[in-house]
Amino acid sequence: MVESCYIPKDLKEALRIRKETQARPLAGGTDLMVVHRRGTGVVPSFPWPVMIVSRLPQLQGIFTDGNEIVIRSLVTCSEIEKNDDVPYQVRKAASLLGAHSLRNLATIGGNICNASPKGDLPVPLIMMDAKVVLLSATGKRILPLDEFITGPKKTALHSDEILTEIRIPVPTVPYSHIWYRKIGTRKANAISKLSMSAAITFSQERIVTDFRSANGASGPKVARSREVEQILIGTHAREIANKIPEILSAYDAILSPHAMPEYRRSSTRRMLHYFLTKAASEDCERIII
Ligand SMILES: Cc1cc2nc3c(=O)[nH]c(=O)nc-3n(C[C@H](O)[C@H](O)[C@H](O)COP(=O)(O)OP(=O)(O)OC[C@H]3O[C@@H](n4cnc5c(N)ncnc54)[C@H](O)[C@@H]3O)c2cc1C
Repeated sequence: MVESCYIPKDLKEALRIRKETQARPLAGGTDLMVVHRRGTGVVPSFPWPVMIVSRLPQLQGIFTDGNEIVIRSLVTCSEIEKNDDVPYQVRKAASLLGAHSLRNLATIGGNICNASPKGDLPVPLIMMDAKVVLLSATGKRILPLDEFITGPKKTALHSDEILTEIRIPVPTVPYSHIWYRKIGTRKANAISKLSMSAAITFSQERIVTDFRSANGASGPKVARSREVEQILIGTHAREIANKIPEILSAYDAILSPHAMPEYRRSSTRRMLHYFLTKAASEDCERIII
């Protein structure tokens, strides 16, 4: 059976089609086209109606709104990596996703809605408390990204909704040290074996005022624990080394890798140890590690 394919001319029409038919949005198609491929040179076959949203002008663009950076859902990884307004970790994650040609098609909205535990962009976005804006013909919802992604390939998206924006709060005090690492089998077109985004902020007296870390590919969804992060708040830089063993075992407890658990746990421990040791060192001013 050939399912319907819609090409809405604007967002209003897209929302109407979504409400009436529940047609799935196709943005860059780099997940959908691959999952439903039928062979070289053969058009993929989808078991449900599809709506090509990739040209909708209302879903394009990156801009600042108050204290938030807003990235609309059809912005591609290539556009993100080139835009200096986007926080460093998000640009870095976008620049390491797939290869050049893929990044020209792959969108931030598709990466989030695909909800792969190994997806790259949710890691720094969840570390920064990003929110998603979900629009339907009848209303709008705003959810924290770590609540929107509910499990492997599962989201809280309703069948009549489209993800329109990702809103990233800009910290009032800039992070003192930031870090993003992706471990894959090779440089390009490698899905993450592990990824980590971390940030720390010191006061002038070198007291930790903010610490956060998010880990990808080490559980059913991005692992972040605000309780564990609290362990470091209020700690002087020279005391960080004493707290590292407690932090590392606390992270161990929140990771639940489904495969290669010892590799993923020990690599996470090593990355976190490296980041915290570097950030705490006295000779280290403001750095991107
Ligand atoms: C060779 C190859 C390498 C890859 N490497 C990586 C990698 O290193 N890291 C990584 O994270 N991913 C990787 N991917 C996966 C993929 O490229 C990304 O997840 C990409 O960001 C998906 O975006 P898209 O626009 O192509 O999504 P699409 O395929 O268009 O859509 C993906 C899903 O999101 C839904 N969707 C899309 N946009 C919206 C919207 N606005 N509102 C609601 N639902 C929406 C679709 O209905 C679908 O369910 C790779 C894929 C391939 C083929």
